[in-house]
Amino acid sequence: MEYEAVIGLEVHAQLLTQSKIFCGCPTTFGAPANTQICPVCLGMPGVLPVLNRRAVEFAVKMALATNCRIAPESVFARKNYFYPDLPKGYQISQYELPLAEHGFLEIQVNGQPQKIGITRIHLEEDAGKLMHSESRPVSFVDFNRTGVPLIEIVSEPDMRTPEEAVEYLRGLRNILLYLEICDGNMEEGSLRCDANISLRPMGATKFGVKTELKNMNSFRFVRQALEYEIRRQRALLSEGREIVQETRLWDANQGKTFSMRGKEEAHDYRYFPDPDLMPVRINPGWQEELRRSLPELPAARAERFQTELGLPAYDAEVLTGDKALADYFEAVLQEFPQPKQVSNWVMGEVMRELKKEETGIAALKVSPQNLGRLLALVDQGTISGKIAKTVFEEMVHTGHDPEKIIQEKGLAQISDAGALEAQAREILAAHPKEVAEYKAGKTKVLGFFVGQLMRQTKGQANPQLANEVFRKLLS
Ligand SMILES: [Zn+2]
Repeated sequence: MEYEAVIGLEVHAQLLTQSKIFCGCPTTFGAPANTQICPVCLGMPGVLPVLNRRAVEFAVKMALATNCRIAPESVFARKNYFYPDLPKGYQISQYELPLAEHGFLEIQVNGQPQKIGITRIHLEEDAGKLMHSESRPVSFVDFNRTGVPLIEIVSEPDMRTPEEAVEYLRGLRNILLYLEICDGNMEEGSLRCDANISLRPMGATKFGVKTELKNMNSFRFVRQALEYEIRRQRALLSEGREIVQETRLWDANQGKTFSMRGKEEAHDYRYFPDPDLMPVRINPGWQEELRRSLPELPAARAERFQTELGLPAYDAEVLTGDKALADYFEAVLQEFPQPKQVSNWVMGEVMRELKKEETGIAALKVSPQNLGRLLALVDQGTISGKIAKTVFEEMVHTGHDPEKIIQEKGLAQISDAGALEAQAREILAAHPKEVAEYKAGKTKVLGFFVGQLMRQTKGQANPQLANEVFRKLLS
C-alpha cells in the first residue's frame, strides 16, 4: 500500500531580549552557570512575575509577519510538571487563549508555492538546563536559561514530505532573522524544532497515530529524522502492526529515533490561568504601530528584486531566502550596480564557497566592496572572467583586495598587441601544418591558435586582441 506522511511542526524560538520574560535577569548566552538568576526565576515563595514588554512586542511582530490574527486578550497559564530543571514546578505558558492564531507561511518547494497554516503563536518561559556528569553518577542544573522568553509557533499538519517541513522551518527562521528577534542558532538551541508525524493510506482523510520527534538541532537532522520515521512507521503499518503514540528522540550518531516516553495529553499538565499575571491586552494602536515598524520581509524583498532590479524569480528567491546573503548582495550592488552579474557571482562562486566551508556569509573574508571591485575590474577589461575566479579564490583565503592580488601575482590581462605578437609568431612557427590549413581556407583553425596563446599566457591574453593579432599575422 502507498502511504502519505502528515507532518506538523512545533518551533520554539528564543527571543533576543536583554532580560528574561518575568524578571530583570540578563539573558547572555554562555555565562557561568547560575550567575543570571534571582528569586523570581528560581520560583521562590512570595515573589511575583512582571511581564517583559519587549518580549510581547517581538511575539506580536512575528505573529504579524506570519499573517496571524492577534488576540485582543491572551492569558498566561501554568503548565504543571515536575522536572529538576523547573524550580517552580510549573512553566508559565499560554494555553487556552494564546497571543495569536490562524496565520500562514508561504513556502516554495520545487518552484511550487505552498501555504502552510500556522495554528497559533504563544509566549512562554524556557526551563533550565541539566548536565549529566560522565565520570560520576550526578547531574547538575544551570538555571541561567530559566525564564528566558520563547515563542512557540505551532503549524497545522499541512506538510506531506520532509522537504516541505525543512522549507517551512527555513522560512520561519528567515523571518525571525529579518525581524531581528531571534538569532536562529539551532546548534545553541535558540531555535528548536519538534515534529509530529503520522502516516495514512494515500487518499485517506483520517489521520493516523502520530509520534512526536525531538532533539533535531539542524535542518539536516530534521530531514533525516523525518525520513527515518516515515520508513519506520511504513514498515510497521505494512506488517499490520500499530503505531504507538509516543515521544521519540533523534539520535544523530546512530541515525535513528528512539522511544523516550509515552506522549502526555494536555490534561496531564493540569493547565490553569496564572493568578499572578494579568491578561495581556494588545490595543489596536500599539498593534498598528508594530505593524508599521516591520522591516521589509523576504517575500516583499524577493518581489522588489524582480521588479526593481530585474532579477529572475529564481535568483530573487535564492538571494532573499537568507537575510545575510541578500544584505551581502545589495552591498555588492552599491559598488557595482549590475544586478544580474552580481547575482550570478553571489549565487555561483560565493554560495559554492559557503557550501564548501559550511559557514554563513559572515565568515566570508571577501567583503562585498571587494567583490564589487573585482566585478568592475572584469567589466573594465583589466582581467578576464576566468582570471577573476582565480583572484576570487585568493580573496577567499587572504581577504586581500583584488587590485593587490592582481598586481602581486601579475594577473592583469595582456592588452598590449606588441606583447602578444611575439608569442603568437612562435606559435605559428611551431605549427606549420595548421598554418597551411588556415591558408587553404579552414579559418576555424584560428580558434586553435588563440587557445594555444591563452594557455601560454595562463589565460591572461585579452581574447579579442589575440584573435586580431593572429588574423593580422596570417593575412
Ligand atoms: Zn531572574
